[in-house]
Amino acid sequence: MSLFRNATYIASAHRLQDLPLPGAPEIAFGGRSNAGKSSAINALANHARLAFVSKTPGRTQQINLFRLAQGGILADLPGYGYARVPESLRRHWEATLSDYLRTRKSLRGLALVMDARHPLTERDELMLEWFRPTGRPIHVLLTKSDKLSRSAATATLRRVRERLARRGGNYTAQLFSSLHRTGVAEAEEVFAGWLGLPAAVPGSAPERQRNGDKKAPSQRGKLGAKRLKCD
Ligand code: GDP
Repeated sequence: MSLFRNATYIASAHRLQDLPLPGAPEIAFGGRSNAGKSSAINALANHARLAFVSKTPGRTQQINLFRLAQGGILADLPGYGYARVPESLRRHWEATLSDYLRTRKSLRGLALVMDARHPLTERDELMLEWFRPTGRPIHVLLTKSDKLSRSAATATLRRVRERLARRGGNYTAQLFSSLHRTGVAEAEEVFAGWLGLPAAVPGSAPERQRNGDKKAPSQRGKLGAKRLKCD
């Protein structure tokens, strides 16, 4: 079974003090609104609707926690950088995200989802800064890579890795596409390593994918459906 498959919803919180107390090791998913974070979570979970895929950027303003079947917690952080969010809400989320990243004791690593066409925005850099003092790893998923030619995607990955290396933190990066389900197995290996879990058992979808079985993912091409109207 893949790492995120059969994850179950636990709780949502608008404020840090409303989150369940830190316990099982946690992986947070952050990213700019519309970067493709919900689609990436759904692709990793092989689930059409685990995380809400929004048609309205900036609406998903909660921290949503999911329990992973093999242990561990996935925290879906609110998207940032959407220009039409009121200033007071933007400030609230900047403070909440920075507090969460700096103080959440159970947090093992941060998956930072970026649109491969617009990587490392100013606010992405802030996320890196807030999390860096913890010394824990950040893995950048350069998603929507299907929108770039192979050579442009490769060049982007190289540039992003160089920029991350210059910052000197514990950073890695990879290409990802929720549409084509590329990069799923690579990402799972990183996240499973953070949680101290095996990424996949023999015969599971990612395992077959790694072994070149093109028919393995049953939901190829589905990015996830809209579940909620607003939140
Ligand atoms: P979020 O706001 O970061 O959670 O972004 P969503 O997952 O809601 O995705 C924003 C938009 O980008 C949606 O229209 C998705 O269908 C689209 N999208 C997300 N990932 C991909 C991808 O890998 N490839 C392509 N072509 N489109 C994607």
